[in-house]
Amino acid sequence: MTSPNELEIVDDDNRLVLRRVVVGPLRTNCWIIATTDSKHAIVIDPGDEPAHLIDAAHDLAVTAIVLTHTHWDHVLALPTVADAWGRDVHSHRDEAPVWPHELSQLRHHGHFDAGTATADLIACGCTIAPPPGAELWAGVTQPLSDDQILHLDGRQITVVHTPGHTPGSVSLRCGNHIFTGDTLFPGGPGLTGWPFSDFPTIIASIRTRLFTLPDGMHVHAGHGHSTTIGEERPHLHEWIERGW
Ligand SMILES: [Zn+2]
Ligand SMILES: [Zn+2]
Repeated sequence: MTSPNELEIVDDDNRLVLRRVVVGPLRTNCWIIATTDSKHAIVIDPGDEPAHLIDAAHDLAVTAIVLTHTHWDHVLALPTVADAWGRDVHSHRDEAPVWPHELSQLRHHGHFDAGTATADLIACGCTIAPPPGAELWAGVTQPLSDDQILHLDGRQITVVHTPGHTPGSVSLRCGNHIFTGDTLFPGGPGLTGWPFSDFPTIIASIRTRLFTLPDGMHVHAGHGHSTTIGEERPHLHEWIERGW
């Protein structure tokens, strides 16, 4: 863990280590939740750079791969890492239309959709398309449902359905940490300009499913820095007023 794109948080109370690896053109956070004793791990959102992720988990036994949602920037490493780790991929059942839409965008435009950042990324020469001939994820997942509990060697990871950014977006709660994907960031909700997105729905998810959690709950988002529920909750009305 020496690269600036990697971060490690030690949670002594739960004997967990949380590793963040930043990957791909949208600098997606792939989170690895690992036990300090048995070295079992769950990987959240392997978005790109499979060799980097396999290296970051080289000392761990990955037991499952879980997706907060299936936008391209959260899944591109899947064909390689799922094969290397030999593990199933899990995502919420309502997420089913999203990955097929991402693939159709790629087929029709030659690149993925990065929302309002698309034109800038293409202009600066960033690649938002897989390399020619790259294997693409087949989209096969084990369906998750709201309040489902995933077990990681005695620790529990709770699935919290937080639709809005996509219909099947989930947040994953483990002890005093919640991994919110593109639902909640420091400074506001994730963007809702995409097909299948909805602003009132993401606000309802944040209000009823996330802002009901304790102030000290650490929020680890799908991009950028982490925050806490207590830091973000006072700003909900500003976000509603500005409309994004
Ligand atoms: Zn997204
Ligand atoms: Zn994202």
